[in-house]
Amino acid sequence: MVIGKADLHNHTTASDGTMPPAAVVARAKAAGLAAVAITDHDTMAGVEEALAEGRKLGITVVPGAELSTVADGRDIHVLAYYPDWENELWQERLAGLRATRGTRNEMIVERLTQLGIPVKMQEVEHIAAEQALAGGGKGKGKTIGRPHIAELLIRKGAVSTMAEAFERYLGEGGAAYVNPPRLHPFEAIEWIREAGGTSVIAHPGLYGRDDLVEQLIGKGAQGIEVYHSDHGTEEEQRYAGLARKHGLIITGGSDFHGERQGEVFHGEIGSKTVDVSVLEQLRKNR
Ligand SMILES: [Zn+2]
Ligand SMILES: [Zn+2]
Repeated sequence: MVIGKADLHNHTTASDGTMPPAAVVARAKAAGLAAVAITDHDTMAGVEEALAEGRKLGITVVPGAELSTVADGRDIHVLAYYPDWENELWQERLAGLRATRGTRNEMIVERLTQLGIPVKMQEVEHIAAEQALAGGGKGKGKTIGRPHIAELLIRKGAVSTMAEAFERYLGEGGAAYVNPPRLHPFEAIEWIREAGGTSVIAHPGLYGRDDLVEQLIGKGAQGIEVYHSDHGTEEEQRYAGLARKHGLIITGGSDFHGERQGEVFHGEIGSKTVDVSVLEQLRKNR
């Protein structure tokens, strides 16, 4: 039996993290973890590099992804663990999700320009490429998202921090917030099942919709992310209870996104973990 801790939620430069996959794995190893999952938004482009680094350093890497979905106008994230990540249909579906993200980015950029902050999609792409390059990553299959737009707003002097960018413009209720129709979480659960993966409801405490969480469970979600950087003790207890009631897998992770402006964005690797034995449950449930 393997002993140790696993951080099951981490982003890399394959999506909106600031550190390349190999560096994230190295950081997890340095934090003393036994396992680390790579769960980039709508892509598994960072998984291969992470697996190779994991083999080199002697730390288990869990292949995963975090799917962007919308239900009742709310952003819902569904984590996928151990899907057959080279499966063609799965890859096509992820590419489709990234294309939708692109449309959304363009809508946001247009809205910002209307608000008197002239920004261009090329500038956003430039920032994403710059960050990926700084990390030594390759360009293929990467995800561009709101944090890249936020970085541009900072550089343009429209806002001074990432938090301000989200509060005033990019977050829910912000002046440039748009949410075009996207994949429904019920469908995401199906996709993950069809790809042979295990589906886990990411950070349910952020939705303020436990009725929706119960519906997702009804539709076959196999786990709940009970431990997350944005969950307090009350949420941890509530969702652990819900998981037990339905016999679901209890997972947890930091949602590490690297550093921006010298500060760790979301949580530090290893700040939220579960026992490494959870990996066995995630594999078995496929
Ligand atoms: Zn998320
Ligand atoms: Zn995340």
